[in-house]
Amino acid sequence: MKFLLRDDPEMAKLVKQEEVRIDSTLNLIAAENHSPRSIMEIMGSIFNTKTIEGYPGNRHHAGCKHVDTVENLAIERAKAVFGAEFVNVQPHSGTSANLAVYFSVLDVGDRILSMSLPHGGHLSHGHRASATSRCFNFKHYALDPSTERIDYEMVRKMALRFQPKMIVTGASSYPRLIDYKKMSEIAKEISAYLLADIAHLAGLVAGKAIPSPVPHCDFVTFTCYKTLMGGRGGMILAKEEFAKKINKSVFPGTQGTSAVNLIAAKAVIMKLASDPKFIEIQKQTLENAAYMASCLVEKGYRVVTGGTDNHQVVVDLSNKGITGAQAEQCLEDCGIVLNRNVVPADAKQPGKTSGIRIGTGALSARYMGKEQMSTIVEWMNQLINNPENPEIQDAVKAGVNDLCTRFPVYANGHDIF
Ligand SMILES: *Cc1c(COP(=O)(O)O)cnc(C)c1O
Repeated sequence: MKFLLRDDPEMAKLVKQEEVRIDSTLNLIAAENHSPRSIMEIMGSIFNTKTIEGYPGNRHHAGCKHVDTVENLAIERAKAVFGAEFVNVQPHSGTSANLAVYFSVLDVGDRILSMSLPHGGHLSHGHRASATSRCFNFKHYALDPSTERIDYEMVRKMALRFQPKMIVTGASSYPRLIDYKKMSEIAKEISAYLLADIAHLAGLVAGKAIPSPVPHCDFVTFTCYKTLMGGRGGMILAKEEFAKKINKSVFPGTQGTSAVNLIAAKAVIMKLASDPKFIEIQKQTLENAAYMASCLVEKGYRVVTGGTDNHQVVVDLSNKGITGAQAEQCLEDCGIVLNRNVVPADAKQPGKTSGIRIGTGALSARYMGKEQMSTIVEWMNQLINNPENPEIQDAVKAGVNDLCTRFPVYANGHDIF
């Protein structure tokens, strides 16, 4: 980064510090992952400077010869990875992708049924703080209080009563697989469109570690920086019949020029998605999460739904005398980075919460396995039970440091791929 060092030494220093932080801490944030270096290279490449509007072969500016190839590559590779009929790679984020899907086939005021945020849904699924709730008429389904899982019969009953034009399935915090076939049967019964938002799961789906929603849904959206491992920004997969509507809804409907560097990064990660290392990381992510959940249960933790089928474990700390926020802080102080999280029907404020959410994507990208998972759970358990014990804190810090050195992310020229 020699030019950054010359132009803005303060920022160059922050880059260095962040590099050190990433390498010397354990990342258990379910919504993050480590990216291969090639992703960082392409995002910082010359493709930052091109302005594009429109689509390959039909642009509003000249000079698009190479960026047209870039966008077509991203589209073709994504179609192959996900078995999708149609792909739009321009959304700036998962939220923009959802907005574009809503506006592609719905009118302002139309009804949408989605999962409620406190039960694991996402802001862009019609939460009152999101502009989506001002444009459309949302109703939210909750989880079954006894199983903490989706009650498909209840979703069906709500759908029959509410008659939404679209059903959104997918969540930010839901450790179980979603039965997309059942969801599509409900949508068909009321002639509603079905959108699956797989922001968290895209890498697992691309790596064929879990079933794909693509055959069952009209639309599938996701963002690239979670289990998918890279780049920023979102994508929309759709049935061919919606191609024109989606393209118009993304540009000029809800976005202006798109970011060529991000589109190029999407192309690169779609190439890497068929690399045996990517597939191994996704498989390991799944195994590590299941194993971590079982280690936590063994130590007396209440794991939401009793376990996991994906990369997430949601832990209810109500019986541990510590809030999610306190746990987050005491773990971060010792190099274990994760986030506080509401548990279904949480009695505490969203800022405090009763739980924490664990994700195993980034640990698996460092090629950690079961042995490391059980060690990390042991450390977490010690800290949660003794949040203010300096000896325990020092011992965990030393252990984290050692583990991070043995499983580097970027240190000393290391790379994930
Ligand atoms: C993270 C997430 C998104 C948001 O993606 P952004 O790129 O941050 O806008 C959308 N939907 C779900 C379910 C998510 O978990």
